[in-house]
Amino acid sequence: MLTRRELLSTTLAGSAAFVVGAGTAQAFTEQAMPPDVAAAYALGCGNAAGHDQLIQTARAALQGEIASGARPAGAEEIVACPICGCRMVVTASN
Ligand SMILES: [Zn+2]
Repeated sequence: MLTRRELLSTTLAGSAAFVVGAGTAQAFTEQAMPPDVAAAYALGCGNAAGHDQLIQTARAALQGEIASGARPAGAEEIVACPICGCRMVVTASN
């Protein structure tokens, strides 16, 4: 059976452990996003301009591939938004 003193010291030790645990939790740090992730988020979602940017980038690449003969004239490219996951079909002309 614990004496009152032992019980109190146990409680204090538990409190100390809790404080140490709290300190550990505070040790979590925020880290900067890698540039590619930051760029993807910067494009934004729910933001039509972000999708427009994706489409324009894919279209430019597709037009380059068609011009170089790497892809046929009617080629399509499916682009998935890295944020919302929606898929967009890109052609050289649309
Ligand atoms: Zn999106």
